[in-house]
Amino acid sequence: MAESKLAAGSKIAAPPRGLPAWLEIPLGGILVEPGNAVEYRTGSWRTRRPIHDPARCTSCMICWLYCPDDAIVVREQKVVGVDKDHCKGCGICARECPVKGAMNMAEGGAY
Ligand code: SF4
Ligand code: SF4
Repeated sequence: MAESKLAAGSKIAAPPRGLPAWLEIPLGGILVEPGNAVEYRTGSWRTRRPIHDPARCTSCMICWLYCPDDAIVVREQKVVGVDKDHCKGCGICARECPVKGAMNMAEGGAY
């Protein structure tokens, strides 16, 4: 645990035993270095999951364009699936897909 930054004689109530003081809690919501958004596994809180059907997909890239998490995986100009670590299950890809059955949402976040 980080060393306390509270001044001696501070009137701020001490936290319950075993918990950090508020000044000891790491700052949240801050990008501390370029490109570190990849470290946030937004897929960990997914409750629904997109299912990609390569047999129907025309690789029109609409889902890639709309995905807010850059979670559509493209190889050699073809959509090949979904990045399961970063797809948050919002369903935008399935909603915007113009090809019936190429991208469908399923209940549950686990693949
Ligand atoms: S929008 Fe649908 S058809 Fe187009 S690339 Fe994505 S899954 Fe394939
Ligand atoms: S469900 Fe949302 S986050 Fe996941 S691939 Fe589709 S558009 Fe991207």
